[in-house]
Amino acid sequence: MDPIVPKNFIQQQIVEDLAAGKNNNRVHTRFPPEPNGYLHIGHAKSICLNFGTSKLFGGITNLRFDDTNPAKEETEYVDSIMEDVKWLGFDWEERLYYASDYFDKLYDFAVELIKRGKAYIDFQSQEVISEQRGTPTRPGVDSPTRNSSPEENLRIFEDMKASLYEEGTCVLRAKIDMSSSNMHMRDPLMYRILKQPHHRTGDKWCIYPMYDYAHGQSDYWEGITHSICTLEFEVHRPLYDWFVEELKDSDYRPRQIEFSRLNITSTVMSKRKLLQLVKEGYVKDWDDPRMPTICGLRRRGYTPDSIRNFADMVGVTKVDGVTDVALLEYCIREDLNKKAQRVMCVTDPLKIVITNYPENSTEEVEAINNPEDENMGKRKVPFSKVIYIEREDFMEEPSNKFYRLAPGKEVRLRYAYFIRCNEVIKDDEGNIVELHCTYDPETKGGNAPDGRKVKATLHWVAESGALSCEVRLYDRLFTDPDPDGHKDKEFLEFLNPDSLKVLGNCYVEPFVKGATPLSNFQFERLGYFNVDPDSTADKIVFNRTVSLKDNSKK
Ligand code: ATP
Ligand code: MG
Repeated sequence: MDPIVPKNFIQQQIVEDLAAGKNNNRVHTRFPPEPNGYLHIGHAKSICLNFGTSKLFGGITNLRFDDTNPAKEETEYVDSIMEDVKWLGFDWEERLYYASDYFDKLYDFAVELIKRGKAYIDFQSQEVISEQRGTPTRPGVDSPTRNSSPEENLRIFEDMKASLYEEGTCVLRAKIDMSSSNMHMRDPLMYRILKQPHHRTGDKWCIYPMYDYAHGQSDYWEGITHSICTLEFEVHRPLYDWFVEELKDSDYRPRQIEFSRLNITSTVMSKRKLLQLVKEGYVKDWDDPRMPTICGLRRRGYTPDSIRNFADMVGVTKVDGVTDVALLEYCIREDLNKKAQRVMCVTDPLKIVITNYPENSTEEVEAINNPEDENMGKRKVPFSKVIYIEREDFMEEPSNKFYRLAPGKEVRLRYAYFIRCNEVIKDDEGNIVELHCTYDPETKGGNAPDGRKVKATLHWVAESGALSCEVRLYDRLFTDPDPDGHKDKEFLEFLNPDSLKVLGNCYVEPFVKGATPLSNFQFERLGYFNVDPDSTADKIVFNRTVSLKDNSKK
């Protein structure tokens, strides 16, 4: 294998660890979600980083559910997380773990720490414990039970486990250093009482380990070599190392490495806030196409490739920053430009009667499926006497710069003919209801043999064979680029009232008939769209994934 040229500081550290002969040349990472919500694009970055990094070094990655808090965790979330990781294209093979798999071992290790005089029971309230912790510049105050005997602590810990104590009456703390400059080292909590059934262990436990106590040990027992996590855990690292140091029975140690989390403009990424959007009905569900969740992006028409590319492009750093959502949109455009089948769809139909076209006759014109990929071939598109164009492609009194259809003007219908508008038909209120045009039969395919030019090419759908469909247009969910960043205002105040626009009366060419949910298309001139699972036999529903160009900065 060629030597790996590191692309970021994490790869650099792994290269160094391998060069130093650590971990018998193993590279083993894990993705450790807490099953308390659906995964979002930030998690996707972490997934790509963990699975991508191990793969680069010929290593492996575990999926581990960090299910130490029974109160907020649900099987629904476990299932969705597995689906999303797989969909992104990653495979944990047989290495599916739960922190709850280690509840027995964690308990035994806690007993061991108590016996070594390195953990004790504290009966004080949370408030008192916090108060006694002090501040980074003021040392903490010892708990009255800090020096109680291992026998005493052990007896109480067993009683805690046996449910002899009520919630909130006592906790188990590690006995480390009440004057450490790192607040996390000032006798952190290891266990608390929670009389709640757990999604996997049921009623077996009423004491549950804290995240900090469970995480490093889980890494250790699984043989994780590089425990990649987000920056807020940097200050927890000495504690992570302390527990592992107490636990270790070999030279092997997992190494925690922190990177900055992904933030994206015009959305929120906290699970609590995403849950609130769902529970309070601001969006339809977790997979609403406006959500930054992986299932939302999937439903919106994003592909796994586009998300993996995005994760690559944002890179890995230690600097907190905000990524413009335009970069994510760029990635899906790039991908779909290569892959998406082109079709024509008219979203705001204006009827055209081609007066010189034979009655009751139809024909087919040939269209290119994807100009970026010859292998995708060509298709036949029906053409008939009545067709539809976009209402905005016609102006009765055109301004100087309007080159599309207008009275007396000629345009090209893509892949079909030149047409000229001769008459505008209106209803009693003066609304335009249809146009009467003539076509030039000599221009079949879209070119005039006499070499005359037209300034505009329009997409269209012929009435013959047209399928009626609904098109859902999405805009940013929030009007502010940083809805979370206002001290005096709640993020909900920035919800965009126009984030969803439904166009219920659209026509699309018959080619899309039978397309399976989530299939991607480019609607010529309009953008990339995909088939929504809400589609029925009578009406296909499309989501606009993204427009053809970035219009957001206009
Ligand atoms: P919680 O507040 O519930 O802990 P969380 O977003 O940290 O939320 P986890 O389920 O703990 O959720 O995250 C799983 C993994 O994904 C962790 O390793 C975490 O660091 C990483 N992760 C979470 N959010 C982001 C993000 N925005 N960018 C990059 N990685 C993230
Ligand atoms: Mg977390």
